[in-house]
Amino acid sequence: MIKLGSHIKFKSPNYLIDSIEESIENKANTMMIYLGPPQSTIRANISKYKLEEYKEKYKNIIKPEDIIVHAPYITNLANPEKKNFACEFLIKEIERMNYIGAKYLIIHPGSHTKFTRKDSIKTLIESLKYIFINTKNVEILIETMSGKGTEIGAKFEEIKYIIDKVNNSRLNVCLDTCHIWDYGYDVKNFKKLIKELKKTKIFSLIKVIHVNDSKNPIGSSKDRHENIGKGYIGLEPLKKIVNAQEFKNVIKILETPLVNKKPIYKKEIKLLSV
Ligand code: FE
Ligand code: FE
Ligand code: ZN
Repeated sequence: MIKLGSHIKFKSPNYLIDSIEESIENKANTMMIYLGPPQSTIRANISKYKLEEYKEKYKNIIKPEDIIVHAPYITNLANPEKKNFACEFLIKEIERMNYIGAKYLIIHPGSHTKFTRKDSIKTLIESLKYIFINTKNVEILIETMSGKGTEIGAKFEEIKYIIDKVNNSRLNVCLDTCHIWDYGYDVKNFKKLIKELKKTKIFSLIKVIHVNDSKNPIGSSKDRHENIGKGYIGLEPLKKIVNAQEFKNVIKILETPLVNKKPIYKKEIKLLSV
């Protein structure tokens, strides 16, 4: 069965219980959460998660390992001045994930800002090695970026280079359809995309796909997500990716915009399921 879900709120007072119930209501069988605000590193104590209640009631519906965690945006492992803070924070984040039993932590590779791309990639590699030495179980997935600003990790070859250098089987990839489209990979051409992923040896490393349409044409480097079927990619190419045999063991997560201040994941999950 296809694993399809969405980004979902994880917050006080019911944490896991509300997240799971909302996901089930959307007919999702997986979900992605931030363990606190995406733009801050404030985190609630794990004792508030309602893990026991979740395990009693829902762990057979959405398994702990199918709860994906996204790191906050502000942790930049590739910035020599910020990497220490980012590493220590993510080590703690992984401990919180191990408490839940969550398997995948998605990170943005970072931006090189005032540093050179080369130095920044070197810093990212060191940061990842350090995190792996100091944690267990959880796999880190590097998300493919759109290349806006000074972002690193838009080009498949660059991500593969980083993964090869870190050389740890706990390091894999999260493919974001909006981001790769915005960078310049043709998501509408399924065969060509698969060929490119195989050629760059990214294909077998993909564990999660962020399924998003894009508000902008291919190559725009904007990173503005659009609702499924409402953007420049369109419904059919995204439906193809969600249901493809090639990605049958890959977890798919929606991160589409709110409509009238509300998520429409339930509708989009239905739209994407065949
Ligand atoms: Fe992301
Ligand atoms: Fe994403
Ligand atoms: Zn994005």
